[in-house]
Amino acid sequence: MSTVYYNGQEYQTRPLMSDVGGYMLASAASAAILSPLPYIGKSFQKQLNREIPNNHLFKDYFYKSFNISGLKDKGVGIVEAQFNDVPLDYKLGHQACYDPFNRKVILNTNKISSAGFHELGHALNALKSKWGIKYLAKLRAPGYAIAGLMEYFAIFSRSKPKDAPRNLTDVIEDNCGEIAFIAMLPTVIEEAVASYRGIKLAKKSGVPKSLLNNMKKIYLKAHATYSGKAILGGLAVYASRKIMDYFTRPRPIEESQSLLFG
Ligand SMILES: [Zn+2]
Repeated sequence: MSTVYYNGQEYQTRPLMSDVGGYMLASAASAAILSPLPYIGKSFQKQLNREIPNNHLFKDYFYKSFNISGLKDKGVGIVEAQFNDVPLDYKLGHQACYDPFNRKVILNTNKISSAGFHELGHALNALKSKWGIKYLAKLRAPGYAIAGLMEYFAIFSRSKPKDAPRNLTDVIEDNCGEIAFIAMLPTVIEEAVASYRGIKLAKKSGVPKSLLNNMKKIYLKAHATYSGKAILGGLAVYASRKIMDYFTRPRPIEESQSLLFG
């Protein structure tokens, strides 16, 4: 084992096995922290499916909402997934989306019209928004890419002691959990605004209160998939980083000796 010096203090570098041990524990911790996500996703799907018997009611209001939204004037169209060549998930009514490139709301209107209002909300965000909301949607892909990158920053071993001077990589590594969370925030906010505007539109088109409440339940659970990913994803990266730090950072000599003998 070798030693390094920072500010006159001698530190002991950690053996390679520390990396492996740290990585295994960090992976386990990360998996445990992320484990609720599939349940959150399933709970949303269940809520969405619960409204399929009411679809005929939602469908009329959905088209009415589209008509009064002003989105037609912006060139937005509806693609009925059940009749079109779109990915299977959309055909089956497991997925819906707003495609900003072609200005199309894509969904199976014979199954999940209840989700359509939210997609209209995305279209409104993109085409008729204030306060720069439309830019939030553009940060979605880069945000997730950055968050994904932070998972890697979290598992690098640390060659420097805790109080050594920092360069940019160190700063990123030190804050990778926070960076991952913040990178996903624009999407969390834009999704919430899309739901808010979708519900507002539904109200305006006369969706009765009971249906509106069911819709809110779907949208809350849908949003939990996004906020859950940001919060738990950020926490998983944070925990991985802390574990790797603990396992791989060089320790001051006195500290490591006292550990040996203590
Ligand atoms: Zn959405």
